[in-house]
Amino acid sequence: MLGGGIVKGMVETARNFLGSYTDEARLTTVEYPEERIPAKENARQFPFLVFDGADPMAGLRCVACQICEKECPPQCIYIVKDTAKKPDYTGKLQFQPKVFNIDLSVCMSCQICVEVCPFDAIKMDTEYELARTDRFGALVFDKNRLAKPNAYFHKLHPTDGAEVDGRLAAEKAKAEAKAKADAEAKLKAAAEAKAKAAAAAAAAPPVAPPPASPPAA
Ligand code: SF4
Ligand code: SF4
Repeated sequence: MLGGGIVKGMVETARNFLGSYTDEARLTTVEYPEERIPAKENARQFPFLVFDGADPMAGLRCVACQICEKECPPQCIYIVKDTAKKPDYTGKLQFQPKVFNIDLSVCMSCQICVEVCPFDAIKMDTEYELARTDRFGALVFDKNRLAKPNAYFHKLHPTDGAEVDGRLAAEKAKAEAKAKADAEAKLKAAAEAKAKAAAAAAAAPPVAPPPASPPAA
């Protein structure tokens, strides 16, 4: 039919036009800020510090090793290590950062700090509403503002959270088993040394009594 292609094209266009208002899968825009699209699990904005337990400062996993500070491409992490170890949330002594700042106005969300951290202490947040009137001071986040609980990490990234918790629990169990085995080996070695000394003492010849001294003239 003459012009059939045009009609077909117009029908397709009309179908798409109406579909963009009614098809759930195609309704990709929302009335921001009244509505927000939930962040995807692998979304990332800026880093935060993970803590365990109830006290954000005592529970920080960060041991101030400064690897992330060295590896951050735009050098927006600033760390000062405490001079002495302090008890963590379990009472174990560890180094902690005295100062841990990230200048979010410089951070480029590359996630390298997360990749290089050997302690799973720093993770990526999905928070993006950080606009401030003071670009420089207000976007330098210190450790108090950066500290977020492990439960928050799980909420944002449940798959990673489960993997990290499983790995940390396995490492802890391995370390505890090794410490127990070392302690048992030490006790066994001490008991063997004691038994050896006792056997050597029993096998030694009796010591002869000293000769009697002659009577005085
Ligand atoms: S966040 Fe990780 S890499 Fe950075 S200083 Fe703390 S423990 Fe080290
Ligand atoms: S995400 Fe990248 S730029 Fe931002 S603090 Fe981490 S390493 Fe630095």
